[in-house]
Amino acid sequence: MDEFDRGRDGRSTDLASGGGVPHWIASSLNFCSRCGSSLQFRLVDGEDRERLACTDCGHIAYVNPRLVVTVFPITEAGEIVLIRRGIEPRMGWWAQPGGFLEVDETVNQAAIRETWEETGLLVEPGELIGLYTRLEAAVVTLAFEARIVGGTAAPTPEATEVRAFAPEDIPWPGIAFATTTWALRDWLELHRPDLDWPEENAGR
Ligand SMILES: [Zn+2]
Repeated sequence: MDEFDRGRDGRSTDLASGGGVPHWIASSLNFCSRCGSSLQFRLVDGEDRERLACTDCGHIAYVNPRLVVTVFPITEAGEIVLIRRGIEPRMGWWAQPGGFLEVDETVNQAAIRETWEETGLLVEPGELIGLYTRLEAAVVTLAFEARIVGGTAAPTPEATEVRAFAPEDIPWPGIAFATTTWALRDWLELHRPDLDWPEENAGR
C-alpha cells in the first residue's frame, strides 16, 4: 500500500499507511457477531491481507473507516461559521459542525442535519472543500461549504457558542482538529488567496 501516492487527503494524518487494523478497534472486536465464536487475524481465501475472521463459521469482521460529514456555513458577508465544541473530544475548541454519516441518509442530508442540530442554522450544501483522511481515528472527513438559507444560530449542548468569523479573524490556535485546519486552509486558498494562515496547529 505504501508504494501508492497518499494524495492530498493524506495531509491531515500523521500515521503511516499500511499499519493494518488499529489496536484500539481490534481490541473491541473479539467475538463473531454471527455465531459468537472467537475472531482471529488470519489469512482467508480470496483476501489480500489478514482479516479478523471467525475461527468457527468463517465470518469476516471487516474494519473500514467511517465517514464524517462536516459543513462550513458561509454568511452573506463571507464570514465562516464555527462552533465552540460543547462535548469531547476537544471540548471548548473551535470546529465546524458535523458528524458521522448515518447509514440511511445521503451525504447532503447529513450535512444539513448536523448543521441544523448543532447550530440552529438551515444550510444548503455547496461545493466540496475537500476530504481528509485521519488514520488515527479511522475516519474520512468530508468538508462542504454551505449557504445559510434559514434558521437562527443558537447554542446547543454540542456547541456552546456559534460564531461567524471573518477570514482574517479565524482563531487558528484554538482550532480543534487537523481536519478543520486543513479544510479552512483549502477554503481560504479558493476564496481568499490574498490571506496568509499560520503553519502551526495542523497536526492534531
Ligand atoms: Zn462465527
